Amino acid sequence: MPITANDTNRKSWLEVPSNSDFPIQNIPFGVFLTKENIVTVGTRIGDYAIDLGALQQLNYFEGIELTDDMFMQDTLNDFISDGKKTWRLVRNRIADIFDVNNPKLQNNPKDRDIVIFDIKDVEMQLPVLIGDYTDFYSSKEHATNVGKMFRDPENALLPNWLHIPVGYHGRSSSIVPSGIPVHRPMGQTLPNGETTPVFGSSRSVDFELETAFITTDVNIMGENIPVTETEDYIFGMVLLNDWSARDIQKWEYVPLGPFLAKNFASSISPWIVTMDALEPFRTKGPKQEPTPLPYLQQKGKHSFDINLEVAIQPENAEATVVSRSNFKYLYWSMCQQLAHHTSNGCRVNSGDMMGSGTISGPTPDSFGSMLELTWGGKNPLKMSDGTERKFINDNDTVIMKGFCQNGQVRIGFGEVSSKLLPPFVRQ
Ligand code: CA
Repeated sequence: MPITANDTNRKSWLEVPSNSDFPIQNIPFGVFLTKENIVTVGTRIGDYAIDLGALQQLNYFEGIELTDDMFMQDTLNDFISDGKKTWRLVRNRIADIFDVNNPKLQNNPKDRDIVIFDIKDVEMQLPVLIGDYTDFYSSKEHATNVGKMFRDPENALLPNWLHIPVGYHGRSSSIVPSGIPVHRPMGQTLPNGETTPVFGSSRSVDFELETAFITTDVNIMGENIPVTETEDYIFGMVLLNDWSARDIQKWEYVPLGPFLAKNFASSISPWIVTMDALEPFRTKGPKQEPTPLPYLQQKGKHSFDINLEVAIQPENAEATVVSRSNFKYLYWSMCQQLAHHTSNGCRVNSGDMMGSGTISGPTPDSFGSMLELTWGGKNPLKMSDGTERKFINDNDTVIMKGFCQNGQVRIGFGEVSSKLLPPFVRQ
């Protein structure tokens, strides 16, 4: 089925600001709360939020087989569960409804009033009920940098890294959408030069620049999915700030890996950009040497050219961009991650989220965490107000953006923006 929604000649009758992340060719999916306190599944064009529940009730999806309440829900899980064919039909239809050449909704002020909201008047929610969250560690540059700092500069990359898309199971309970502030965590650390640990607030809270993909129902328990088929099970992507407490991490991570240093908060952008929308930005990932084992081998273009950016905004000051990276630097593809995840028969469900791991580029200004950007705090970064940062200060806001752009179209994610609050104190 052709992806007619991606037609770059298409124009919407809704105004789209130039350089918007959300032209009519994007059509991402999300969940929002309206002023009337109604939660609905929606999409976005320009600076308008569009109520898909209302569109369905008004019969604009006639001819597409959908359950009656498909969009009148507070999560996208059912829609995602319906599979790729439905996603494509619905996206194509939305493009058609908002096409400048289609008068139906355009010339119906009563329906328009029910369906279309100013983006400022809605409150974005988590788009899916995330059952399970897995975080990979798939940037070779990041793994090498961290290995150099935390372990052995001579053998920075562990022997398994070039053979396995390394990952761990995170906590879905602490995933929050953009805009929700996060408290500096308390935890156990071993201060430098000491032999006994202390308990207190983390002194090195960091961001991790990541993307994440959201899956549909992938398999039944015991069944594996061949790498060549994995793309059918990936619905779309979001930006992910995987908040990390480096001092807690350093003390706790041996031998089982990340635990409380990572599970206090993970922030995501609220609009899921579909893999269909990202199709024009396919590109090859890095050359894999040594050749992966057969179950991880794939041919063709399985990465995406997605520009990524991180800025830090101190309270009452302008934001300063501290990193510019790109999704295409990632060594292991999402397909390889998913094939590996199911290779032992592990079940993956609709709405599960898989983090990429910190996406660091090859140059120091493209590193995806403060740990790397300041090299463990040795080289502080200067902010617009003249202050310096080794890690994130209380009341700083971390803003991540992501977009794809070619000569014809820009497809973006908007942003994931979250403020770091002082430690939570029980009253
Ligand atoms: Ca991470």
